[in-house]
Amino acid sequence: MGLKVRPTGRSGESMSDAKIIDGKAIAAELRSRVAEAVSRLKETHGITPGLAVVIVGDDPASHVYVRSKGKHTRGAGKASFEHKLPAETSQAELLDLVAKLNTDSAVHGILVQLPLPGHIDENAVIQAIDPAKDVDGFTTVNAGKLAIGQPGLFPCTPVGCVMLARSALDDLTGAHAVIIGRSNIVGKPVAQLLLQENCTVTLCHSRTRDLPSVARLGDIVVAAVGRPEMVKGDWIKPGACVIDVGINRIESDDGKGRLVGDVDFAGAARVAGSITPVPGGVGPMTIACLLRNTYRAACAIEGVEPEDF
Ligand code: NDP
Repeated sequence: MGLKVRPTGRSGESMSDAKIIDGKAIAAELRSRVAEAVSRLKETHGITPGLAVVIVGDDPASHVYVRSKGKHTRGAGKASFEHKLPAETSQAELLDLVAKLNTDSAVHGILVQLPLPGHIDENAVIQAIDPAKDVDGFTTVNAGKLAIGQPGLFPCTPVGCVMLARSALDDLTGAHAVIIGRSNIVGKPVAQLLLQENCTVTLCHSRTRDLPSVARLGDIVVAAVGRPEMVKGDWIKPGACVIDVGINRIESDDGKGRLVGDVDFAGAARVAGSITPVPGGVGPMTIACLLRNTYRAACAIEGVEPEDF
């Protein structure tokens, strides 16, 4: 699925033989498979999956994400319910809304956009979501299911990372995966998912000793740190598959800023066998996997066997 392209530097010189893993194209294919499955679910069972997205406050980036989620949800033939609440909404009011969505039969997935304003306990809100509708996969029930290898709803970005690695390597069995970052929403679930793919997993963090040497052991390196271009080319084993989760805005010559990942793309692409770009790598997979989770949640709630994709 990945495209074989040669990125060029500013002077036009060839920088790499690494296969660029085209997350945009892979995400578009996944979205269209979800749309087809949703259309069959409607025709055969009269079920329209519904996703409710709740946003509190005025954070511009969060509003961009929510608009995009709504657009893609409708694009996949699903019902989209957007709840935009003012920043001063109390925790009790938010919990009340979550409780209503939990019992609303038109809603199969509930996503509360993070971050929430400081006066609201994010964990209390997340844990109030019915695990059957927890399409972000953040409840302890779904995290526990992932940890013990039971089916459940698992976090979208990590699932997307594994799909991208699979698109580049086909079989991940026996590969040594080095994950940098141990957050509950990215690093830890990526580690669990890669373990299920029979990888040998090393999970690194800010206290890991000699991180470059550990990273160099990886047939797969997943960077989820939040530090612009931290992972250098000489941290990468020749031929490795590099999945860059980071999204960082840095200053640019034109003053508009530009997005970079947690990996020094030019340096790593000289050594890697395959690599995800930023933007256009992991980012587009997150929404595509959210649509897939919502489809799967609707099937589970309505007692229909989901299509396997
Ligand atoms: P967190 O800040 O929650 O976690 C960062 C992790 O990186 C922590 O485990 C931390 O270690 C580790 N870390 C920080 N500094 C270092 C260091 N110098 N060396 C080694 N490890 C270090 O971030 P997230 O997991 O939420 O996000 C990570 C990145 O992914 C961000 O850039 C974020 O924007 C991006 N992201 C992208 C998404 C997408 O859709 N593409 C979705 C979600 C996130 P410790 O635990 O020891 O503090």
